[in-house]
Amino acid sequence: MSLKSGVKSAIAVAWDAGSRLSRPAPKLTILYYHAVPAAQAAAFDTQMAYLKRTANIVAPDHTGPLAIDRPNVAVTFDDAFRSVRENALPALARHGVPATIYVPTGNLGRQPGWRMETSGDRDEVVMTAEEIAALPSDLIAIGSHTVSHPHLTKLSDEEVGEQFGASRAALEGLLGRTIDTLAFPYGDHDARVVELARQAGYRFVYTVAPQAIAAGDTATSRGRTGADPGDAPGLFALKTRGAFDWMPMASSLKRRLRPRS
Ligand SMILES: [Zn+2]
Repeated sequence: MSLKSGVKSAIAVAWDAGSRLSRPAPKLTILYYHAVPAAQAAAFDTQMAYLKRTANIVAPDHTGPLAIDRPNVAVTFDDAFRSVRENALPALARHGVPATIYVPTGNLGRQPGWRMETSGDRDEVVMTAEEIAALPSDLIAIGSHTVSHPHLTKLSDEEVGEQFGASRAALEGLLGRTIDTLAFPYGDHDARVVELARQAGYRFVYTVAPQAIAAGDTATSRGRTGADPGDAPGLFALKTRGAFDWMPMASSLKRRLRPRS
C-alpha cells in the first residue's frame, strides 16, 4: 500500500469510528468495479458474501427508505467487461446481490478503444450485444457508459448529446426496456454535462467521487466509491460503510487552498 493510500485508509478508519459514535442519518454508498479477473473470482465472491451478510443491498437509483441498522450499498460495474460476466456474475447469483452494469455501446465484443482506467484491464474485452442481452434481467440492470468512452467535458454540446442519445437508443433497441441511467467515463463531468444528460432523458448519472447519498435524494448526479476484488477485507468493509465520503470534501478544500495560476 502506498503512503498516500495508507493516509487515506487511516482517515477512513477515523471517519468510520466518528460516524459510529455520532449515529448519523442512514446513507447509501454506491460501489463501482471495473474488471473481475479469473484470479480474483474467489476474492470477489467473499466480498459479495460479506455484503449479503452485513448490508442492505439496493439499486444505485434507489430513492426509497434506507436501513438504519446496516450499511446501505449498491453494486455497479463500469465498462461491461466479459470478465464480469464470467467471474462476477456467478457470485452475484449465488449470493442474490443485484448489480448494474454500464455499457460503452461503441465497443461491444472488442477490446477497449479507450485509455484504461485501471492498469490491470489491458486484456479485457467488452461483452458482445448477445452476451449483454442474455444477462439475467432479474439480477443485472443495464445503464449507459456512453458510445466511445470519451472525456465528456472536452466535447461540444452536440457531441455529448450524441454520446448520450446514441448509447441509450442502442441499449433500448437491444434490450427492449428503458435505459435512463449512465456512468461518466473516467467520472469526467461538470454542470454542463450533467444538464445535457438530464436533457437526454437520464434520471441518474454516476461519478467516481465517493458520496453519502441520503434517503429520498433525487439529485441527478450521484457519487460512487471505487471497489476492487483485491481490496483487503478491512478496507472493503470501510468502503461499504461510506468511510471514504470525506474525500470529495478534502479535494475541494485542496482546490480552494491552492493558488490559481
Ligand atoms: Zn469506463
